[in-house]
Amino acid sequence: MQGLMMNTPLLISSIAEHGAKYHGGREIVSVTADNPRHRYTYRECIGRARQLANALDKLGLEHGDRVATLAWNDYRHLEAYYGMSGAGYVCHTINPRLFPEQLVFIINHAEDRWIFTDVMFVPLLEAIADKISGVEGFVVMTDEAHMPETSLKNVVCYETLIAAESAEFTWPELDERTASALCYTSGTTGDPKGVLYDHRSTVLHAFAAVAPDTMNLSCHDSVLPVVPLFHVNAWGIPYSTFITGAKLVLPGPKMGDGEVLCELLDTEDVTLALGVPTVWLGLLQYAEKAGKRLDKLQRTIVGGAAVPRSMIEAFRDQHGVDLRQGWGMTETSPLGAANSTKAGMESLTPDERLDLATKAGRGLFGCEMRIVDDEGVELPWDGEAYGALQVRGPWVCSDYFKLEGGAGSHTDDGWFDTGDVATIDPGGYMAITDRTKDVIKSGGEWISSIELENAAMGHPAVAEAAVIGISHPKWTERPLLIVVKAEGQEVSKEELLAWYDGKVATWWIPNDVAFVEELPHTATGKIKKIELRKQFTDYQFPE
Ligand code: AMP
Repeated sequence: MQGLMMNTPLLISSIAEHGAKYHGGREIVSVTADNPRHRYTYRECIGRARQLANALDKLGLEHGDRVATLAWNDYRHLEAYYGMSGAGYVCHTINPRLFPEQLVFIINHAEDRWIFTDVMFVPLLEAIADKISGVEGFVVMTDEAHMPETSLKNVVCYETLIAAESAEFTWPELDERTASALCYTSGTTGDPKGVLYDHRSTVLHAFAAVAPDTMNLSCHDSVLPVVPLFHVNAWGIPYSTFITGAKLVLPGPKMGDGEVLCELLDTEDVTLALGVPTVWLGLLQYAEKAGKRLDKLQRTIVGGAAVPRSMIEAFRDQHGVDLRQGWGMTETSPLGAANSTKAGMESLTPDERLDLATKAGRGLFGCEMRIVDDEGVELPWDGEAYGALQVRGPWVCSDYFKLEGGAGSHTDDGWFDTGDVATIDPGGYMAITDRTKDVIKSGGEWISSIELENAAMGHPAVAEAAVIGISHPKWTERPLLIVVKAEGQEVSKEELLAWYDGKVATWWIPNDVAFVEELPHTATGKIKKIELRKQFTDYQFPE
């Protein structure tokens, strides 16, 4: 027997209309290339998204066609999110930090028909224009006064495009499984792979994101996503804010600018900020130098890479900010786990709380987790056993766009293999120990590069650290610590190695330390271990 409840589809356009109706006057503040503080409201945002939807319908697109964006976090990009997906098109967000060859690959693979771009990325597109001939036209996301000279063909100004349209639009009542957005993984190995979100997955993910033990988001918050709209939907923030009515502060091209971020946090009364660890490293360094305290900020959600204990401590002790770690991937929309304390943990000492906070977090309801060994046998949740992390749920990808199972990323019983290696403790707290490919195998045992990196990051003279495995005649592989020194600080190899005493098992301690000026990062801010391994291919441990 079936239940007797309504089957109204879960649609992104419903989130838009909910936000505009219930929180119409809530503010959205953006830094853009042409305006240091653009301000308007949810109501105006959705009005303009409807104008855009009308304009898209006139471009001769079919539902399901991909329309790309190449843009920073600002109000026009947000309108594109709602206008494109709401009207039945697939909003394909492109990471402008990718190499030109990767841009060409994904634009062609996605079969993008139009590209919406910020002014500053026009030269990037001009350079590859002859290789993306399937693209019919370009919309430059600015007004007529700031339109650039360009050799691109069929170029339209965003403000002119939407000015001609009505702010009335009847959103199509799509099937909730309709594709809504497309984002390619960073592709550290091989070609990038497309993750195709749908309306249902997006809405369910947004519900999970706002929950108290995830982001604890409400209309009283002011939110600064320093996670880009061009990567995994800025962790779903465009949707979770519109569900709750939180103020939205968008940093535009200033995502890596400590001074601007500090000022936004202060003047826009930001209570919640989100970003990857590298972003916060920069911000904490700036705040320390400038003698600033982040007084208004209450909490940060940090994920996308392992979060060093020293960072959690710095936020807590220097700024009174609660850092909550999250884990996720492009393939999981992205949120899969979030770290918050449980009832009964009130008596934990500050140190025990810190230990807990260094874990990635508990699986959200909606994202089941398991760890398995090489034979696919499930491992216990004892906080010790580590194995391949597999997940499943309604906002986890079931395949990659146009690969039809070719990636071999799913198990026969329907779980997605994340490529991460993790432990899960009896309380359900999952901790990432490595990417499968980055695991260091010494004498048949695994050493966690992430734990070694985290410990090194706790040293005051270390700005950034990475650990890779180097082949070793006796142990197969041994860890090498690679360090970028903090500005103005000196430290020796011996001091750094001694720093590990008592922090990790003796046999985990790296065999050597290499100092470098900087570490290579991927387009999404992760340390590029592949590149590092290449740089150190000829490296040999001292006798
Ligand atoms: P992406 O698809 O670019 O968002 O990258 C996803 C990957 O980032 C995951 O598979 C993890 O390897 C890594 N990652 C995300 N969150 C964390 C975390 N809290 N700790 C360690 N690694 C993380």
